[in-house]
Amino acid sequence: AAAAGVALEVREVTKRFKGLVALDEVTLSVPAGQIRGIVGPNGSGKTTLFNVVSGFYDATAGSVLLGGRDVTGMAPYRLSQLGVARTFQNLRLFEDLSVRENLLLALDRTRTTWIWRYPLLPWKVVAHDRALHRRAAELIGRFGLDEVADAEPRSLPYGIQRRIELARAMAMSPALLLLDEPAAGLNGEEVRRLAEIVRSIRDSGVTVVIIEHNMGLVMSLCDHVTVLSSGKVIADGAPAEVAVHPDVVAAYLGD
Ligand code: ADP
Repeated sequence: AAAAGVALEVREVTKRFKGLVALDEVTLSVPAGQIRGIVGPNGSGKTTLFNVVSGFYDATAGSVLLGGRDVTGMAPYRLSQLGVARTFQNLRLFEDLSVRENLLLALDRTRTTWIWRYPLLPWKVVAHDRALHRRAAELIGRFGLDEVADAEPRSLPYGIQRRIELARAMAMSPALLLLDEPAAGLNGEEVRRLAEIVRSIRDSGVTVVIIEHNMGLVMSLCDHVTVLSSGKVIADGAPAEVAVHPDVVAAYLGD
């Protein structure tokens, strides 16, 4: 049985693509309110793990539990209704909507409507609901986006686009936030700002799982780190512990 206070449990999850075993009986457990780092060489299965947890891929075997509830095989929109939000390695913002409109779309979780339908009818969302506008304004303030709220994301610097993506994920009021390489392409100052934002997200009660190559960031930000290599968990523990684990050192040198 799942312990209370466990946000995410992955139990013996295997994911095969034809002959390739991308995840090999991966088991991990993330307590609520933790920042969990997922690290490992390229091709070790990190993004596949996110895709299974967020419902984009079906596991070949094993199960996924959210807050003790078995959600194995659920579709992404159902998981998003249950509080799973994610960002992607490549930004996926609506390029011809303003920052504010992107947030309004994300806030409009009617719980029955799949958000990707809306690009056809964006004005329907934007026109009415005052409460949505108020919540969009809050997110804009919280993520430091006031000066760019009415600009289109494509016109903005990359670091700001990443912050918009994070704001959009938070618009879904997630319980579990999956961040796929959020620091990629950011400069030192932007990475520091990202770390602050992620900590504030954690402190607001959201469980965060973060795939990240920037080991400095992983070490300073994460409460706990899980290391994957060739689809297997090879280490799991406090950042300082796993950094010196012989298998981890070997996996990184072999990369
Ligand atoms: P990481 O995120 O750690 O770099 P991935 O999860 O992207 O690793 O990939 C793990 C392995 O699974 C790789 O060998 C990759 O080529 C393979 N893989 C990932 N997605 C697919 C897919 N949709 N079809 C076939 N192989 C895939």
